[in-house]
Amino acid sequence: MISTFTYEALPVRVVFGRGTLSTLKAEAERLGIGRALVLATPQQEAEGRRIGGLLGGAFAGLFAGATMHTPAHVTERAVAELHATGADGVVAIGGGSTIGLGKALALRTGVKQICIPTTYAGSEMTPILGETKDGLKTTIRSLEVLPEVAIYDVDLTVTLPPTLCATSGINAIAHAVEALYARDRNPIVSLMAEEGIRNLASALPILVHEPLNLDARNRAFYGAWLCGCCLGAVGMALHHKLCHTLGGSFNLPHAETHTIVLPHAVAYNAEAAPEAMAAIKRALGASDAARGLFDLVRALGVPQALADIGMPADGIERAADIAVESPYWNPRPIVRDAIRDLIAHAYAGERPGAVASRAA
Ligand code: NAD
Repeated sequence: MISTFTYEALPVRVVFGRGTLSTLKAEAERLGIGRALVLATPQQEAEGRRIGGLLGGAFAGLFAGATMHTPAHVTERAVAELHATGADGVVAIGGGSTIGLGKALALRTGVKQICIPTTYAGSEMTPILGETKDGLKTTIRSLEVLPEVAIYDVDLTVTLPPTLCATSGINAIAHAVEALYARDRNPIVSLMAEEGIRNLASALPILVHEPLNLDARNRAFYGAWLCGCCLGAVGMALHHKLCHTLGGSFNLPHAETHTIVLPHAVAYNAEAAPEAMAAIKRALGASDAARGLFDLVRALGVPQALADIGMPADGIERAADIAVESPYWNPRPIVRDAIRDLIAHAYAGERPGAVASRAA
């Protein structure tokens, strides 16, 4: 039954398909960008130069210093470059790290942004920016950081290394999963979430073996767009908070942490969110949402235990303490001992339900 809800559409123009990069110059003109600073990571510097070539006379320069967690000192250097080149817009090509830098520049200078995502993280569809200064990460939600245009060119994702493809894809699925049980969930976002999970879950197992399969690439990127829309539209819960805590406390890699924790966060919330579980099961074609996600990750051949990505064993209790420190909404109340068990299962990489069924 459809109950009362509120839905607010975000004004991002989306260009999706193969070869859509060819629209970049026209999209910049449409936005009134006269000179654009191109942003990239050092690893994608060559891609950044290629983008510069496509902009022709509107190419103001390249800043290829984007890095994880949007550190303030990098943003300050990029702001200086923006002013030095006289740019009035930015074109960010890359994953969440590069797009985060573009958002940080928009926040400080008001420049317009065109994002060209090359991972499945989804930042280009959200008004969210996480920044770090002196080791502290702060997150803001503001329309000031929402990009004006996102150009999804499927061809740019064929170079994604298989591990990043898998973990970035599960990171996207996590946005959709939590959107399904968000406090402010609504019917249209739930439709996008289920469809996003369905597309990614069918494409990712193919892509880890056939990175050049363009049909699967297309579905994965489409799914990632839908999942990014979910993250931008409604609030997240336990899974995202926990990954934030674990990543920040133990310096764990972003997408890998999401990939390992997701099945366990879903198991924690399963009984409190039956409609969300039903949608996840439909999307995965699985009989159990948490185990279905765990098995999907297993099929992708990426790490399934926090122990394997650098979390120390004595971090379990500490993480549980931090995770319950500041209260936040979740479909199931946050109970310290149960959270501790969740983290312990994720640390060991156990299949959800395995302990209970062994004990039974
Ligand atoms: P990333 O942007 O850090 O990229 C990882 C590495 O892969 C980089 O070296 C990058 O250059 C490279 N890469 C990206 N695309 C490639 C491709 N197609 N081919 C080859 N190499 C490629 O990784 P990410 O997972 O996309 O982003 C993670 C960051 O984004 C985190 O800091 C996270 O907090 C943030 N994030 C923010 C939001 C938001 O809404 N604000 C949403 C999701 C993620």
